[in-house]
Amino acid sequence: MKCHRCRNHMVYEKFYGPHEHFWGWRCIFCGEIVDPVILENRESPTGRAAVNGRTRRR
Ligand SMILES: [Zn+2]
Repeated sequence: MKCHRCRNHMVYEKFYGPHEHFWGWRCIFCGEIVDPVILENRESPTGRAAVNGRTRRR
């Protein structure tokens, strides 16, 4: 897995969220994090919002 921002090596590791832990990829160079939810949102643009509580405004 390579970072989409800086193309450096990413490591698969465990993250701890407010309610649960999950596994995801973290770039060892720039700190970019890619988790399964982010990947899911990228694949479905009409799906649920990426961040809870954030609404789109114009
Ligand atoms: Zn990176």
